[in-house]
Amino acid sequence: TQYVFDFASGDATQTDLLGGKGANLAEMTRLGLPVPPGFTITTDACRHYLAEGAVPGALADQVRDHTAALEKAMGRRFGDTADPLLVSVRSGAKVSMPGMMDTVLNVGLNDETVRGFAAVYGDESFAADTYRRLLAMFGQTVLGVDGSLFSRALDEAKKKQGVTADSELTAAVLSELVETYKDIILEETGSPFPQDPHEQLRQATEAVFRSWNGERARVYRKRENIPDDLGTAVNIVAMVFGNRSADSGTGVAFTRDPSTGEQGVWGDYLADAQGEDVVAGIRNTEPLAALEGHDAESYRELLSYMELLEKHYRDVCDIEFTIEEGKLWMLQTRIGKRTPAAAFRVACDLVDEGLITIDEALGRVSGEQLTQLMFPAFDRSNAPAPLAKGVAAAPGAAVGKAVFDPHRAAELAESGEKVVLVRDETNPDDLPGMIAAEGVLTARGGKTSHAAVVARGLGKTCVCGADSLEIGPDSARAADGTVVNEGDVVSLDGGTGEIWTGSIPVTDSPVAQYFEGKLGASSDPLVTAVDRLVRHADESARMEVWANADTGSDARRARRFGARGIGLCRTEHMFLGDRREMVERLILAEPSDREPILDELGRLQESDFAEIFEAMDGLPVVVRLLDPPLHEFLPSLVDVSVKEAVSPSAENADLLRAVRRLHEHNPMLGLRGVRLGIILEGLYSMQVRSIARAAEALRAKGLDPKPEIMVPLVSEASELDVARRAAEKVLEGFDVDVPIGTMVETPRAALTAGRVARFADFFSFGTNDLTQMTWGFSRDDAEGSFFGDYLDLGIFEYSPFAVLDEAGVGALVETAVKTGREANPDLHLGICGEHGGDPQSIAFFDKAGLDYVSCSPYRVPVARLARGQSAV
Ligand code: ADP
Ligand code: MG
Ligand code: MG
Repeated sequence: TQYVFDFASGDATQTDLLGGKGANLAEMTRLGLPVPPGFTITTDACRHYLAEGAVPGALADQVRDHTAALEKAMGRRFGDTADPLLVSVRSGAKVSMPGMMDTVLNVGLNDETVRGFAAVYGDESFAADTYRRLLAMFGQTVLGVDGSLFSRALDEAKKKQGVTADSELTAAVLSELVETYKDIILEETGSPFPQDPHEQLRQATEAVFRSWNGERARVYRKRENIPDDLGTAVNIVAMVFGNRSADSGTGVAFTRDPSTGEQGVWGDYLADAQGEDVVAGIRNTEPLAALEGHDAESYRELLSYMELLEKHYRDVCDIEFTIEEGKLWMLQTRIGKRTPAAAFRVACDLVDEGLITIDEALGRVSGEQLTQLMFPAFDRSNAPAPLAKGVAAAPGAAVGKAVFDPHRAAELAESGEKVVLVRDETNPDDLPGMIAAEGVLTARGGKTSHAAVVARGLGKTCVCGADSLEIGPDSARAADGTVVNEGDVVSLDGGTGEIWTGSIPVTDSPVAQYFEGKLGASSDPLVTAVDRLVRHADESARMEVWANADTGSDARRARRFGARGIGLCRTEHMFLGDRREMVERLILAEPSDREPILDELGRLQESDFAEIFEAMDGLPVVVRLLDPPLHEFLPSLVDVSVKEAVSPSAENADLLRAVRRLHEHNPMLGLRGVRLGIILEGLYSMQVRSIARAAEALRAKGLDPKPEIMVPLVSEASELDVARRAAEKVLEGFDVDVPIGTMVETPRAALTAGRVARFADFFSFGTNDLTQMTWGFSRDDAEGSFFGDYLDLGIFEYSPFAVLDEAGVGALVETAVKTGREANPDLHLGICGEHGGDPQSIAFFDKAGLDYVSCSPYRVPVARLARGQSAV
């Protein structure tokens, strides 16, 4: 097997084998950019090393051959005491994991070669500086020596000489430092620093392989959902020296602003420094534009490469470069990471510049990004530096008093305080506190931790895994020593993971305001880009997007956001509040006494329906007849028992008897949905009558109401048959055309969909109940209890309530679509569970052939985007 490839022989497509860094170094070499010569050791070799504990037998010879070729290209030999070749040994996985793995610079220096090196460059202090950098990096990353030992020695040397900058150290002091570093290595490891350059190369390579399984890298992969079995490649690159002189330096560049997407020159430059110094933040960098003042020629050359790379990759690139005595070298490029705002803006700009098509632009943004843009955001113009940064686990901008105990959080929220729950990590006992809080902050766990999963389910802002915070039972301590106590205000940005002490002002999202109709499409470049891509998604799409809305105001918002119908109008809230008492009377009344109560409820519902139909004038509104268990409308058994015991009366005794009779141990699997509609005579007929009356009244006003009636929780075709005939009988008295269909939400309904469809004009998949019943776990309890563990163990990749379980629930949906349509070719099909707003699930529903997805009003724009993406 070939384990080693020269930069001149690969290209950008080979990221699996060469890693991202290696493949892109090869691509830049191919494009004729000034990349220092070098070669890549493949991820194959890494996987072999990690599995067997040793590199493949063939590797040593291949590395020696490529090293020889590199020597020839450079006109320098490795280990030559007169004019030595130095190399860097750099990690680089398929997926970029910035700063998570190791790199060693200046490999090839030893006590002999350092003298030749100094002579060639005519600079003793430069040579000694380069050697001490190798010793520190090699000592730390390859030999595992505590890095602070080196930095402490460096600080002492600077103090002794009375200077503050590394670059001011004299050759004598640096040479002394070299000796000190070697002593540290000998003392800490028991062996001297390896003098043989080939041995250095070998050890550094294996150390890079091992860094794939280092703690940092493992944690990062888990957070970012990167597979553990990819391994890293190793890039051996001839060294160029940004620390050579004042007209040398190193920097990073972005072809566009990674936070807004704006065009221009973005990046940082540090004169007289090696690459690692930029990251380490030892000295303050200058903005990239300052390079023009230092070295106008290199600056212009760099800009021309930036343009070339952007055209070539047809996307934003980020770049690492180094200048050695006025000569520019390109050391890395990759497709640049960007914020959600930049993603939309860049995608549209690239279309205008003719680099990509509008279909491609649609593929460059995600529903997840649009979701983030819909939330209010912090106004950072005067924000201090954040206290810490964790994993951005659930979007939003939360400000509140820090509280460290879930029950205390619930208490304070009850009394009207805004609180943020701060925990080392959360478990099911934290649920009440999470519900009460504006946001949740934890020190441990990633995007799939309990805190993250539950917060997303609750729609709460969440930052988790902020591991620089030490979170105790009643306070938190930051790395800089700041202590946060209960009651101190903190601000969390769930979109970036930043945490501040104090209250950061919150601004409305311009994107949300645009969808609300409060801002024009041309109000700012971001809004223009969102508008353009969402419209393009609309034009490309096959499926429609409807919304779930129970009130007139929700319906109006849904319509503004672009919903083409209401896929689920729940009627249970029409039975709560003041009306609850009426329902209680209805349930307890003798059948012969029900009529007047039903009439009264019916009149109230009529006006509820009219408001919604009017808001959706001309568009369909699917009204679901009453669904929840009867049980939920009854007073609690305990309350009634106590009442009867305290003040016994005939009335109270009747009530207690009735409550006992109707009490259920498992109401969600009890008398609810169509079962209730059939048993509690008159109830569904009353609802159907109210719907028809409301529609007729609006028609008289010249409007075009389009109600549809949905029967919930049908498991057996004849249940729907009975309910349908009763509804049709009521509708006979009205001059309205109302389709009647059912929610498919029990596995049995899905499996017998061919029979159910004979009585249905439409199906709407109720994927929340369908998921709960297919898996046999309760959605009210399971997410907060064992889901966190299941996600950690990898039993779940996602919560099946958040992303549709295609293999199980999805198979039921597919069966029902197929057999339902066979039985009734006109059957109209939709989905109204939470999954209707999830981009990944939407792609599945599109493939399954549904006519629409229905989701909460705020998710409508995201769903519009997602179903357009799945269509192009
Ligand atoms: P990371 O993936 O953490 O960015 P890199 O392998 O890119 O690590 O290297 C770390 C730093 O060292 C970067 O700033 C890079 O530009 C610099 N560097 C790497 N190889 C060389 C080289 N051959 N000559 C000069 N600088 C280098
Ligand atoms: Mg890098
Ligand atoms: Mg249901």
